[in-house]
Amino acid sequence: MDLFEYQGKQLFARYGIPVSPGEAVETVDAAVAAADRLGYSVVLKAQVQVGGRGKAGGIKLAASSDEARAHAADILGMEIKGHVVGVLWIEKASDIAEEYYASFTLDRAVKLHLGMLSAQGGVEIEQVAAESPQAIARIHVDPVDGLSEAACWAWVERAGLNPAATEAAVQVLSDLYRAYTDGDADLVEINPLVLTPDGRVHALDAKVTLDENAAFRHEEWSAYEGTEALDPREREAKSKGLNYIGLDGEVGIIGNGAGLVMSTLDVVNQVGGAPANFLDVGGGAGADLLANAVEVINNDPQVRAILVNIFGGITKCDEVANGIVEALGRVELRSPIVVRLDGTNATEGRAILAGHESDTLIAAPTMLDAARKVVELAKR
Ligand code: GDP
Ligand code: MN
Repeated sequence: MDLFEYQGKQLFARYGIPVSPGEAVETVDAAVAAADRLGYSVVLKAQVQVGGRGKAGGIKLAASSDEARAHAADILGMEIKGHVVGVLWIEKASDIAEEYYASFTLDRAVKLHLGMLSAQGGVEIEQVAAESPQAIARIHVDPVDGLSEAACWAWVERAGLNPAATEAAVQVLSDLYRAYTDGDADLVEINPLVLTPDGRVHALDAKVTLDENAAFRHEEWSAYEGTEALDPREREAKSKGLNYIGLDGEVGIIGNGAGLVMSTLDVVNQVGGAPANFLDVGGGAGADLLANAVEVINNDPQVRAILVNIFGGITKCDEVANGIVEALGRVELRSPIVVRLDGTNATEGRAILAGHESDTLIAAPTMLDAARKVVELAKR
């Protein structure tokens, strides 16, 4: 789950990382009132979960109430890379001497945490990585040992920050590591981490992705549910308890087990199609869940054909077949469904489908046949 900048900063503040005081607002009047309370100058920042807000005009400095009003009116409702701005974060403006980059994430390849620090912050880190990879100091941290102060010092020194920033940066990075591990995040990123002319180091931006597998031990995360930026398809799927991720193509995908669904996406790609989504109905999916899955995919306007790929294990193919038949009775299908069933009770499942086969319900014997068929239908 991705947080907005202001939520990330509130998290950082709980771990002692210096952030500017600020307020989140949703209207122009509230923005001006907040700016007046904070005292000028302030920065008005569009809260959308995409980078490059600065360049897109979503971040503006205001030195007076009039300026705050004008900027708030401009930014609220503005669209940045497809995201409409509904919330503004207003914070006390900072003076900047230097801009750095800092982050922690998991390096899956080596099964260790990866810290990245660069004296060249403010710009996108992908750009730094491409143009001057040596400007990023990396550190691998074993989660069992943690990040020692000595290792943190050595890392900061390698990154070549201004010496005036070193001590404060070591403190911020230790706190950031705690926010990342104790906070159960998959990613914490500060870009820019700034050095002020008077020698303070603090977080001017915050990007945080939480590990949803840890939700059971974070009651406080329920506060994010109402604000989470999901596309409408994802919102509907989540409300129905489905494991769904929206993609850009036109072939709707339903499968059981993350591995099988991933391979289904690959095979559809391989035969020239583009998946519209990832949807894993999980093990033991019954008829009702299947019908819900078909419903969600059917409501996706970009879907032109649907592929159901089930390997029966705990999930029984006859129940899946019943679910599909139930869905056909419940929703008016906008696109044809190709079904491939194999595994437990496949024969029974196929027999059920055979009784309903039509132009819109097509059975296919193998995954590759099913993918070819569904891509052909999607292109028709
Ligand atoms: P992003 O463009 O979405 O990454 O948004 P950021 O929060 O990183 O802001 C982009 C840029 O705006 C920063 O790199 C700063 O140069 C500038 N900026 C943000 N806040 C302040 C501030 O308080 N004072 C000044 N002078 N510049 C700021
Ligand atoms: Mn930024």
